[in-house]
Amino acid sequence: MVRTPDAAPAYRVYTRKDIDRVPELMRLSVEDRMVMKAVSAVLPFRVNNHVVETLIDWDDVPGDRIYQLTFPQPGMLEDADLHRMLELVHAKASEDVIKAEARKIQMRLNPHPAGQLELNVPTLDDEPVAGVQHKYKQTVLFFPSSGQTCHAYCSYCFRWAQFVGLEDLKFAARESNRLVEYLRAHKEVTSVLITGGDPMIMKTALLRRYIEPILRAGLDHVTSIRIGTKALAFWPYRFTSGDDADDLMRLFGEIRDAGKGLALMAHYSHPRELEPASAQAAIRRVIDAGATVRCQAPLIRHVNDNHHAWANMWKAQVRLGAVPYYMFVERDTGACNYFEVPLARAYRIFTRAYNMCSGLERTVRGPSMSATPGKVLVDGITRIADEDVFSLRFVQGRNPDWVNRPFHARFDPHATWLDDLEPAFGADEFFFEAEMRKLRAPSPFSPTV
Ligand SMILES: *Cc1c(COP(=O)(O)O)cnc(C)c1O
Ligand code: SF4
Repeated sequence: MVRTPDAAPAYRVYTRKDIDRVPELMRLSVEDRMVMKAVSAVLPFRVNNHVVETLIDWDDVPGDRIYQLTFPQPGMLEDADLHRMLELVHAKASEDVIKAEARKIQMRLNPHPAGQLELNVPTLDDEPVAGVQHKYKQTVLFFPSSGQTCHAYCSYCFRWAQFVGLEDLKFAARESNRLVEYLRAHKEVTSVLITGGDPMIMKTALLRRYIEPILRAGLDHVTSIRIGTKALAFWPYRFTSGDDADDLMRLFGEIRDAGKGLALMAHYSHPRELEPASAQAAIRRVIDAGATVRCQAPLIRHVNDNHHAWANMWKAQVRLGAVPYYMFVERDTGACNYFEVPLARAYRIFTRAYNMCSGLERTVRGPSMSATPGKVLVDGITRIADEDVFSLRFVQGRNPDWVNRPFHARFDPHATWLDDLEPAFGADEFFFEAEMRKLRAPSPFSPTV
């Protein structure tokens, strides 16, 4: 099973303080680098040498899609904010002053969208279960505290607030014993999704400490373990090179031997991430170890907002043995004005890409909004009873009874999120709203206390 791994290049990361040290950035003007310093004081910035040297085509910067994915761009801030930050950078203001000004802007960027923290933390014996979110009946999310950073940061990430220290990470879990107790008490849960950040930032020994208690506990009702990761794209050597990668494949084998399905929920934003031999070898090896690879990403303006990118990406995934899974709509947080794609356009891009594919690629679902009531699919744009409408459908619901029930919103070419939509046919509200109001009643538990 263990094949001869490719040698990995030495790992190097660059953050804001390295902007004048990345050799490739010397191609930019001094002023462009000043802008980068100004924006990255507000929004998180981190890349590694695989992203810089293998994924970005520097002849195509600033338009390059992976550059847009990972490097801070002037358009991500409003003009006035950019101007103010740039003045501070030009004036060589102290880091404290820059940080304080950046904080004010961050607070205006909707750092805590979709009630994630307040609504989804479950309790056991009246105590909140740290590092666990349980929103959809069958699936529990688990956030190990050591997996809450990433190999590189996607500039649109909805977890950006935690990377800039705005969101309290105390909610993450240091061990999985409480999770195991919770699972024992919740036989309806069939799937545990370990997520972050990126859990694959952890060394295998550490990841093992989280996973083995779940396996040892039996928990026959838990039929699958998933690991959400961008490392297959951003640091594929994690899976192919060195002793730790070999140990990871053994851990994957143990999960399978314990009778659990194992899926890597891989985040691929652009077909180029699948081109390097190292990226393909990583998928191959993960599949050889008995895991499946399911692929998901948001649709992002400047990064992947055309149907060819998606069709090519889905085809490449299927060719490599991976399974296209979700196309998400960009969330309403951070620099969302820069990245957002209206729902109508998202639907057209999805449909065009879908139409270019065979049934094997059409396992993908989307465009899907991970909104407070659930994952809502934009299923169609149509005309019913003389009204232009969006056909919508829950693919996951806070209440499972909502799933797969079609509903309709008035067509709005500019809407970018569920909150922008109005019910069609003169209805006062969507069918799920009364129940949502009840769920939103203040909870005594906050994961940050
Ligand atoms: C997307 C998501 C899941 C997993 O949903 P699947 O449709 O099973 O992939 C679980 N919990 C939350 C909060 C999610 O957003
Ligand atoms: S890899 Fe995932 S969690 Fe990390 S920055 Fe990108 S989108 Fe966010």
